[in-house]
Amino acid sequence: MSEKWLVAVDLGGTTTKIAFVNDYGEIIKKWEIVTDKSESGKKIVLNIAKSIDEKLDEMHVSKQQLAGIGMGAPGPVDVEKGIIYEAVNLGWENNYPLKNILEVETGLSAVIDNDANCAALGEMWKGAGNGAKDLVCVTLGTGVGGGVIANGDIVHGTHGAAGEIGHITVVPEHGFQCNCGKQGCLETVASATGVVNLAVKELEQSNMASVLRGQDAFSAKMVFDAAREGDELAAMTVDRLAFYLGLALANLGNALNPDKIVIGGGVSKAGDVLLIPVQKYFQKFAFNSVKHSTLLDLAVLENDAGVIGAAWLVKHKLA
Ligand SMILES: [Zn+2]
Repeated sequence: MSEKWLVAVDLGGTTTKIAFVNDYGEIIKKWEIVTDKSESGKKIVLNIAKSIDEKLDEMHVSKQQLAGIGMGAPGPVDVEKGIIYEAVNLGWENNYPLKNILEVETGLSAVIDNDANCAALGEMWKGAGNGAKDLVCVTLGTGVGGGVIANGDIVHGTHGAAGEIGHITVVPEHGFQCNCGKQGCLETVASATGVVNLAVKELEQSNMASVLRGQDAFSAKMVFDAAREGDELAAMTVDRLAFYLGLALANLGNALNPDKIVIGGGVSKAGDVLLIPVQKYFQKFAFNSVKHSTLLDLAVLENDAGVIGAAWLVKHKLA
C-alpha cells in the first residue's frame, strides 16, 4: 500500500477539492471542480468519479495506483454506515448513503467523515498539530466548524455531532440568530458574518467615530484592518469577538486539555490582531493547569487541511 496513492476529496457547497496524496501526506496532484448541485445533487459524486478518471488519463497513470478514496463532506456523518444525516445545501435527501455511492461510482473503497473533522485530522497529521494526539481545531469561515481529536482519532459522539464548536452558546441571552435555529452561537459572532454582526452592533450602540461608519457594507477583513490601524471602534469589535472565542476555547480546554487548540479558516488570516486578544481571554477563562499546558495556535495548512485529513482517513481507516 505504501506505493499507492490516497485519493482525497474535500466537498464544499460551491467547489470540490480533489487530490492524490502519498503515504506521507504529501500532495502529488490537486485540482478543483465545480460542485454541481442540480437534480438534487445527483451529479456531485458522478462528476468526482469522472474527474478522477480524467486526471489519471492525463497523468498516464492506471487506476491500480489508487489505494482508496476519502471524503470530507459538510454536515453530520454516520461514519460506520457511511451516511450523511443531512446536507441540505448540497440538495441531498436526508440519510444520504454517500460511502456506497462513492464506491459504486469510483470503483474504490471509500471512507467519509465531516469536513471540519477532516480539516482537524489534516492539521494533526501535517499542520500545526505536528503529530499531537490530542487536538482541537476550530475553523472560522463563512460558518464556524470544529473537530476534536482525542488519543489520535476524531471524536464523533453518539450521533456524529461532536465537535460542533460553532454552535457552542456564548451569548446566552439576546444573542444573534444562528442558521441552526438557536441564538447566541459562537458562529453568530466569530464567523466572517459574525464579525460584521458585532461591528454593526458597536456602531449602533455608540457615536464613536470610525472608518466603518457610513459604509454601505463592509467585510470582516475591513474590521481587522481598521483595528490594526488604530480604529477604536474596530478594536472594540475585535476585543468582543476575542472575548467570545477565548471563552469557548477555554471551556473546551477545560473539558479536554488538548496539546493544542488550532484556529484556522479565513477569519484567522487576521493573525496576531486576533490571536493576541484571544490568548488573553483564554488565559482568563482556562483552568490553571490547562492554561499552562494547552497551546493556542494558528492553523498552517489553510485550504489543504481538508484533503490531507481525507487522505489520512484512507491510510488509517481503509488499511
Ligand atoms: Zn448555531
